Amino acid sequence: MKEKLAKYLLFIIAAVSALTAVCVRFICLRTSDVVSVTVWTIAVWFVITASASAAGMAIMFKVIKPPSPDEAEGDGYAEFRPLIHRIGEQRRELQEKRKELEDKERKLDSITENMTEGLVLLDGEGLVVLMNKGAGRLLGTVGDTEGQHIFTICGNNLLQAAVHTAVGGHSCRETFAQGGLLIQAIASPVVVDGASNGVVLMLLDVTERMAAEDMRREFTANVSHELKTPITSISGYAEMMMRGLAKPEDLPALSGKIYSEAQRLIALIADIIRLSRLDEGSTESISEPVELLASAKKCVELLEAKATNCRVTVELTGTEQTIKGAAQLIDELVMNLCDNAIKYNQPGGHVWIYVGARNGVPLLAVTDDGIGIEPEHMDRIFERFYRVEKSRSKETGGTGLGLSIVKHAAAWHKATIDADSVPGKGTRIVIIFDGKGEE
Ligand code: ADP
Repeated sequence: MKEKLAKYLLFIIAAVSALTAVCVRFICLRTSDVVSVTVWTIAVWFVITASASAAGMAIMFKVIKPPSPDEAEGDGYAEFRPLIHRIGEQRRELQEKRKELEDKERKLDSITENMTEGLVLLDGEGLVVLMNKGAGRLLGTVGDTEGQHIFTICGNNLLQAAVHTAVGGHSCRETFAQGGLLIQAIASPVVVDGASNGVVLMLLDVTERMAAEDMRREFTANVSHELKTPITSISGYAEMMMRGLAKPEDLPALSGKIYSEAQRLIALIADIIRLSRLDEGSTESISEPVELLASAKKCVELLEAKATNCRVTVELTGTEQTIKGAAQLIDELVMNLCDNAIKYNQPGGHVWIYVGARNGVPLLAVTDDGIGIEPEHMDRIFERFYRVEKSRSKETGGTGLGLSIVKHAAAWHKATIDADSVPGKGTRIVIIFDGKGEE
């Protein structure tokens, strides 16, 4: 728009100048009045000077651009036209390519920098070409590592072996320990024209995965062992009866043993199912108002017969506390704590269940004056299949999984567990629903 206006302006100025010049010529021819001729001459001179200045200024302020290679095509320079055209094309192509490269670089940067996995690119000598933040974090290095040798950044033998193998043209995986983490390194060669001239190194933090795998392996071994024991007993007693090896008067006792072993098996399988359900997190979607006192009341009713059998008095006090959670998990948690308080007690013993709040935070406390736990076992009682006294646990129908279920259920509700025990005096376990607990 500006350009057009300037062009029109120049055209009008030029036309007015030409017209004025014609007029001067005409007046000069017609008159001999020296004053008029002088005035007209000055006017023409002024108009021409103004036009020249306007054109100069327009070019200076880039209102009128000098012809571009494209415009030049139409405006002359015929012999340069193909060359100017080619230069214009190449300039456009270069600009597009540069933009494309910049876009790709930006994308690559944002991907590598936001990856939790470590990514390292090495040249054929093992020098770092690129190392993302994730790799720096896993290898415990900060700042610019470009140009440094990977072995000066991490001297681990297994990592070195993986890099050597990849430099030799073969992919390799190694898992090594570094700064308290277990890191899996996947080294792949970069092959150009059939020759390996670099290495791509992926670093993954497998600490949690390995710990979970170890736990699963241990759990499977424990489960197999725990299931095998009652089945072997059941099979042995049944065989004796089948072959007529048992005296008729021993039959009730033998069948009683088969029954109790079968009950233990059932309890064990139920606990295993509960734990695997918790491991899978299949209860995670359930979140409803749960009344702690009501759950404790239900539990006391269910355990009444057992408490009477063990000659233990159970007392429930407190006020209703409603939390957000999974009712079934809370029932299992309360049940396991109260069951233990009765089981690991003595005739004439007591169990006190209290539901209340401390500083507005709901809590459930189960206290007993039973056998208590030695301090060295306190850290381990929440582990799967850990029993302080194996024989007593089995005798009382324990599976070794009760407190693991309590721990899981508390963690699911983000509740904190506070356990305290004095051998020979009793045990107190408090579940505080403060939202601070974690698995
Ligand atoms: P179990 O099925 O054997 O009772 P738990 O996981 O419930 O398994 O408990 C683990 C171990 O902790 C028990 O074997 C027992 O030795 C000990 N324990 C748990 N609760 C109490 C308690 N209230 N008093 C004494 N010892 C307890």
